[in-house]
Amino acid sequence: MLEIPDYDPNETIAEEVDAQGRPLLSTVRHSTSHVMATAVKRLFPEAHLGVGPAIEDGFYYDIEMPRPFTPDDLAAIEAEMAKIIKADEPFVKKMWSTAEAIEHFGKQGERFKVEIIQDLEKVGVTEVSSFENGEFFDLCRGPHVKRTGQIGAYKLLSIAGAYWRGKESNPQLQRIYGTAWHNKADLDAYLHRLEEAEKRDHRKLGRMLDLFSVHDDVGAGLVFWHPKLGMVRHLIESYWRDEHLKRGYEFVYTPHLASERIYTTSGHLQNYADMMYAPMDIDGDPYRVKPMNCPGHIKIFQSTQHSYRDLPQRFAELGTVYRYERSGVLHGMLRVRGFTQDDSHIFCTREQLADEITGILELIHTMMSDFGYTYEAFLATRPKDKSLGTDDEWAWATEALREALVRRGVDYKVDEGGGAFYAPKIDIKLYDALGRGWQGPTVQVDLNLPKRFGVTYIGADGKEHEVAIVHRAILGSLERFVGGLIEHTGGEFPLWLAPEQVRVLSISEPSAEYATQVRDALRREGLRATADLSADKIGAKVRLAETEKIPFMLVVGERDATARVVSPRRHKGKPEGTCTVEEFLARVRAEIAAKKRPEPPPAG
Ligand SMILES: [Zn+2]
Ligand SMILES: [Zn+2]
Repeated sequence: MLEIPDYDPNETIAEEVDAQGRPLLSTVRHSTSHVMATAVKRLFPEAHLGVGPAIEDGFYYDIEMPRPFTPDDLAAIEAEMAKIIKADEPFVKKMWSTAEAIEHFGKQGERFKVEIIQDLEKVGVTEVSSFENGEFFDLCRGPHVKRTGQIGAYKLLSIAGAYWRGKESNPQLQRIYGTAWHNKADLDAYLHRLEEAEKRDHRKLGRMLDLFSVHDDVGAGLVFWHPKLGMVRHLIESYWRDEHLKRGYEFVYTPHLASERIYTTSGHLQNYADMMYAPMDIDGDPYRVKPMNCPGHIKIFQSTQHSYRDLPQRFAELGTVYRYERSGVLHGMLRVRGFTQDDSHIFCTREQLADEITGILELIHTMMSDFGYTYEAFLATRPKDKSLGTDDEWAWATEALREALVRRGVDYKVDEGGGAFYAPKIDIKLYDALGRGWQGPTVQVDLNLPKRFGVTYIGADGKEHEVAIVHRAILGSLERFVGGLIEHTGGEFPLWLAPEQVRVLSISEPSAEYATQVRDALRREGLRATADLSADKIGAKVRLAETEKIPFMLVVGERDATARVVSPRRHKGKPEGTCTVEEFLARVRAEIAAKKRPEPPPAG
């Protein structure tokens, strides 16, 4: 991914402000990256600069250095930054001809800046701007805050390796990440969120709770689901199937291998060859493991001729696909090389599109609410540079998406030009318990595959018409969704998803038999219950169940056995006093039906 922002020297960039008249945080953060680069060049004149954009919650700068930066270096850079901010240096814009700029940056040994300017020249740019503060100047189009003193609170967070322009054949630079906020209180709140996120890291919880693993001798990016997480997945899949059946979907299964011929027809080989795994020879024919489920669903649809009366048809598959990801971006369950999509393709008439998409939005709302996520919708429209299809096609396809959003009363933002080159789409961004954004469901109206495969139906007029195809995934990939869910819940799965819902703890040997009876009674009612009958003290049993984040403990002693009662205790809660097994069952049934999540722990 090229991370250099679009550069247009003639563009005047409005210095936008927020509701309180302050510069936008993105402007503050980008300006802080200049200040950091100023400090780096003062302390390490041998350093050379790549690019330094603002990112979500912060900024980074890519820097070439003869030796690795250390934590002490970061502290020194932070201290130097404080001086620059205190000096309240103005940011001054200056225009250069590209030839002047190349000479100027060349003299400083800033070869990456020279490369950027040379690339700009190739696309006809003749003038570039720089911004100066103090003795430092940087190739940049802005915007920045007016003076360095406007930068509120900041902190440098980490160092990572990053290839120049994201290409592994390019030199490796060191990327210093930082964050910047309007004031110290906002910075502290953010650092607290980071700490909380660290505790909830799904890789850490995955090890602690024995949920999943990845093995070097099997391959990077290939996830093994252990029994507990296997149960969570089973429950999610059952829920997913039920919700789809209620809405008229039909389930299909498609093979994991397919001849290259189908991917030539679909265009995947031409457009996505770099994310597909190498071909394997089967009887002289090249085959591939499947990177996408769409061609398979189209083949099923095309096995018979369809009339308008058959439409819509909604095919759904928990389809496992394999895609190449660079080893550097693999991350636990969130970025992997093999994953199962909750994929669906809807085959309908153009007139049915808005209804179908409205139905999908309802399903998205139901499912995301059940998992406790809030969300934001984006309507991504036709890309400016590269796209297939006619104006007319983009218009009706985009309009169908928009109409569905309006009908459902979903507030949405327009992501101008953010569509796929073959489809306008709705992207849903999820927000988790920590307020972090996650990539969520997508709905696309395909303007490409119906033509490539010649997918048609016979209309009421007796003529052949092109079918409209909607691709949609709600959970996205089960790996990524469940990885996110581990962080969202902090490993405390809500009762309806908890692999072990109730653990019965016997206080002493004589209550063991009653504990077993209670466990079996719960199991007969469909609860996932176990009994801890060990000789350990009750305190130790409680602590173990707490570590394993079991939602409910039922403590039983000899007297409880006589009275036929149990003493419930919630994860992180206190003993609640006794109740009958029937009373307990009624309570958990209600909670499971409501899919209610326990409140997240208070911040601080
Ligand atoms: Zn800048
Ligand atoms: Zn698809």
